[in-house]
Amino acid sequence: MNSILHSTPMGDCRAKTNRLALNPVKYIPRRSVLALHRFIARSNRLSCSDLRKRLWVASPMFDYQLIRSKRRKTLAIKVSPQGVEVRAPSWTSTAEISRFVAHKRSWVEHHLQRFASLPDRLALEKQYVEGELFQYLGQNYPLQVRPGKRHAVVLEDGCLQVTLSQRQQTASPTQVIQRQLEHWYRQQALAWLTPLSHQLAAQLARRVGSIKVRRTRSKWGHCTSKGDLQYNWLIMAAPPAVIHYLVAHEVSHLVHHNHSPAFWQQVGQLCPDWQQQRDWLKAHGYQLQV
Ligand SMILES: [Zn+2]
Repeated sequence: MNSILHSTPMGDCRAKTNRLALNPVKYIPRRSVLALHRFIARSNRLSCSDLRKRLWVASPMFDYQLIRSKRRKTLAIKVSPQGVEVRAPSWTSTAEISRFVAHKRSWVEHHLQRFASLPDRLALEKQYVEGELFQYLGQNYPLQVRPGKRHAVVLEDGCLQVTLSQRQQTASPTQVIQRQLEHWYRQQALAWLTPLSHQLAAQLARRVGSIKVRRTRSKWGHCTSKGDLQYNWLIMAAPPAVIHYLVAHEVSHLVHHNHSPAFWQQVGQLCPDWQQQRDWLKAHGYQLQV
């Protein structure tokens, strides 16, 4: 069994559908709710032929992408700089989806405002050019590109230095630089996260299975039922205290396969300021780019 049990999402808000159905929505004007129903009903009809379809839904509150899937068991809503995404089991009624979205309105609007007040997302996208700043362990380092005999990446003299061999100085050096940097961040991630995971697991008298690093779109880490850990190597851009929290979180899943109060207590034993670090990751995680 390789199923993934637990993960650290990048700002998800999940809830059981049956519990939400009990929550009446009082603060949304009825007109808006009806309009929303119409929009969702339309999208619902469209999505019937495809059980895992992405649709843009325009609503009086906010536009969002609706993704229906046969495998999903619960409703979930996610806000990112890319927009709002609602995931629903294929059997969920349109009324239930609209109640769920309306129930989450203030939470979603709060995060949309937060993203709107932040610098343009495009400004975060890397160009891989000389002098551009890259984060590593929470510090900014300017990129320095130089020719050399062999390709290499080193952190030296306050700069992230990328050496490109003559063969690599091609028409698109940015792609080569990006690959080199990714390789270096992966190496750093394994070098940091592996001993730390073993060390924290030992404090819980548990053993870690394999440790892998990947670049995942929506998760910082997860722990499988077999005790294998997987981390998003982008976390190496974050401050060390945040990295420590992430490892404490995933390692705690070796004991508690849930997010119960006992789980958080366990995280607190390994990382006393876990709340502060978790909040930092929620607020700034999307800004971590390489
Ligand atoms: Zn978790």
